[in-house]
Amino acid sequence: MVHSEDIEIAKNARNNAYSPYSKFCVGVALRCKNGKVYSGCNIENHGIQGICGERTAFAKALSEGEREFESIIICAAPKGEEPTNECMPCGYCRQFISEFVDKDFIIGLYDNGNIKEYTIDELLPHAFKL
Ligand code: ZN
Repeated sequence: MVHSEDIEIAKNARNNAYSPYSKFCVGVALRCKNGKVYSGCNIENHGIQGICGERTAFAKALSEGEREFESIIICAAPKGEEPTNECMPCGYCRQFISEFVDKDFIIGLYDNGNIKEYTIDELLPHAFKL
């Protein structure tokens, strides 16, 4: 179940995106099982070492000691445009997320005012594991 306030957090996080090259702004809200919510946005640079909004939020939460996660909302669109279509996490983020979540974790993609919900197994059915 997605918390409606997380949608607003994700939409607002888009305003902090640093994306001068792609002009594509991503905002996310990562909810922990303890109720805390961490926002994230994409951060680009001249090289290829930019970071997606999903991994930004996970890095913030993990570095604060969080280890149990409930859901993530992803909201994305070109700069200056309202988000309309769902934006799937990239392959790197899917693999990264799979390290830290269980089968009940919700990946919610904002789509025309609605949230489409997926599990990590649906988005990454054959995750790499050692
Ligand atoms: Zn990504």
